[in-house]
Amino acid sequence: MGLKMMGNAKTARNGNLLGAIGMTLAIFGTIFLHEGDVTGMIYGMIFGAIALGTVIGWMTAKKVQMTKMPELVSMFNGMGGLCAALISLIEFTHLMSSGEAAPIGTMIAIVAGLVIGSVSFSGSIIAFLKLNGTMNKPVRLPSYNMLNNIVMLAVLVFAGYVAMTGGSMMLAYGLFASALLYGILFTIPIGGADMPVVISLLNSFTGLAAAFGGFLYGNKIMLTGGILVGSAGTLLTLVMCKAMNRPLSNVIFGAFGAGSAAAAAGGSETKGTTKEVSVSDLAVLMNYSKKVVIVPGYGLAVAQAQHVIHELEMLLEERGVEVKYAIHPVAGRMPGHMNVLLAESNVDYGKLVEMDEINGEFETTDVVLIVGANDVVNPAAKDNPASPIYGMPILEAYKAKNIVINKRSMNAGYAGIDNELFYNPKASMFFGDAKKALTTLVAELKTM
Ligand code: NDP
Repeated sequence: MGLKMMGNAKTARNGNLLGAIGMTLAIFGTIFLHEGDVTGMIYGMIFGAIALGTVIGWMTAKKVQMTKMPELVSMFNGMGGLCAALISLIEFTHLMSSGEAAPIGTMIAIVAGLVIGSVSFSGSIIAFLKLNGTMNKPVRLPSYNMLNNIVMLAVLVFAGYVAMTGGSMMLAYGLFASALLYGILFTIPIGGADMPVVISLLNSFTGLAAAFGGFLYGNKIMLTGGILVGSAGTLLTLVMCKAMNRPLSNVIFGAFGAGSAAAAAGGSETKGTTKEVSVSDLAVLMNYSKKVVIVPGYGLAVAQAQHVIHELEMLLEERGVEVKYAIHPVAGRMPGHMNVLLAESNVDYGKLVEMDEINGEFETTDVVLIVGANDVVNPAAKDNPASPIYGMPILEAYKAKNIVINKRSMNAGYAGIDNELFYNPKASMFFGDAKKALTTLVAELKTM
């Protein structure tokens, strides 16, 4: 029910809360309905760990800025993966000390949880470091993909051997270490636009690893929760691949990070002349337009300009201008970022138009106002095969009659490449921090 409610902006918050309540019930159900002896000491340890985890999780989530959400998600996801891997290691230890041969099904569940959980853990930590800028250069070794695929095959063969033979504690630790290494190798070469896909993929891995834990313990809630996370993560991965026009096979086995390498090799050649628009000219232009489309991007989130943009929208609507928001699926820094941001300032959900739909409307748009967006409107994605973002579907803002771009400078966006849209004869730059610039625009409009 929580998940279903999260499908709609109005009920999403309560859906999240409901999901959290459900999980709390599941945790307490697991603890108190446990069959067999549980001593006071064990209860103490369990509740001590819950208290510690709750305090750390609560404080981190409370402090985090909206734009840093993907980092938080990758860190939390990594913790889930580590948890699944540790469960497998502990169960392996139990098996070894009991001296009994485990059924093959149990061995597969233990080994799969260990491998997938470890890959997810180390991969998520690398994703976290990349997102917070600590590791901002993609690493390219010669024949990287081949090397990665060989390591992956080796880990799979190793895992198969341990599951079939029952292995030993030494082998289990060896498998743990090699899966951690693979997780690092898997994520390290990725840069630029592939990062959100990877995080969502790692998220689905964690779900899968937890589901194996559910098998192991015969715990249906753990199994269901794991499967939900696994399938939701997989679906999100597929949706994002589609939005970026990259087949999943290419993301898993293909040229990870090749885009960034191409960027380094000269993806930012476009240079030309730009023109600027003054706030008064822009106010006149917008005031006398019939239709305005706003393209929000990462910069809108950084500047926290969602409230003032809503004010601008209402002001224009009062004057008979039709206003819509064009939503790109990977605008900002997390899936659904723009939807969340605009919902915060109570923008009518009906005004948010998905990319495929709004692309047909740009030709009849008088002004497209691009606020802190860059890669998602870069025409190079359509017409420059050498560009690292080539093939990514974009918002076709270049088709509008007038293009106005608000950002602070000529700096590049996430993919690190220049944007030829800024040099389009129909385009004008409206420089400044989004919140400040839009506030002056609103003030100017009010005087008219
Ligand atoms: P971009 O990152 O391409 O561009 C954002 C622009 O905002 C910058 O060029 C910057 O220019 C400007 N900006 C920054 N701060 C401000 C400010 N205070 N006021 C005004 N402008 C500002 O953003 P897009 O949304 O167009 O594209 C998202 C990119 O992020 C894509 O490449 C996507 O693949 C990637 N990505 C998406 C994720 C997702 O799940 N949505 C997750 C991770 C990455 P300047 O410095 O000149 O102001």
